[in-house]
Amino acid sequence: MAENIILTCPHCGNKTPMKILNKYEKVTMLPLEYDEGAHFNDIFEVFECPVCKGFQLYYTHWNTEEAYHEGDDIYEDGRVLYPETEMINVFALPRNIKSAYESAFKVKNIDNTVCVMALRRTLEMVCKDKGAIKGQLHQKLNQLQQQGILPPLMGDISKVIKEFGNMAAHGDQVNFDKYMVNSLFRFTNKILEYVYILPREMKRARQELEELEALAKETEL
Ligand SMILES: [Zn+2]
Repeated sequence: MAENIILTCPHCGNKTPMKILNKYEKVTMLPLEYDEGAHFNDIFEVFECPVCKGFQLYYTHWNTEEAYHEGDDIYEDGRVLYPETEMINVFALPRNIKSAYESAFKVKNIDNTVCVMALRRTLEMVCKDKGAIKGQLHQKLNQLQQQGILPPLMGDISKVIKEFGNMAAHGDQVNFDKYMVNSLFRFTNKILEYVYILPREMKRARQELEELEALAKETEL
């Protein structure tokens, strides 16, 4: 396990090695028939951000029954339990999209207009990544929807995007308030989850199932 835990601070958005303030590890043992038994480890850690001094409660899990591969980092699949946050698991995103999303997150509580623009940039990159390159953002999102890359429920959303875009582009004296920023965040999160995270989770579930099936076959023999 890494000595220096690098996480993104949910308060100031800096990605930096965190200072550990406290740790609680709950080990659950399940006796198995032939060997020592299975361990399930639930780890709760309180980290302090060296930049803004804000803290977060971070949850990670590992156990002896799952196959971990080289380079696996349990912190990648960990979860921020406190503070409540809209941030998704960025490790599943393509590198450039991850970085655009993180820059939106970085200014989330600092500059709403810049944040909205960074979220739009993130969505532009998703469209490009998935091959929609013509027209304005809402048109490209519509295209992805028609191709089934985005679910059909998103009709209204492109309207929202359009309006956000118009306000930003015309340099209107609009103050994007926190509420609007949060709703655009939620919307962006849904898209990123649908396009990048869900397929990854499905793949993992399928692998686990296949491993189980293989194991079952072995015991049959
Ligand atoms: Zn911080």
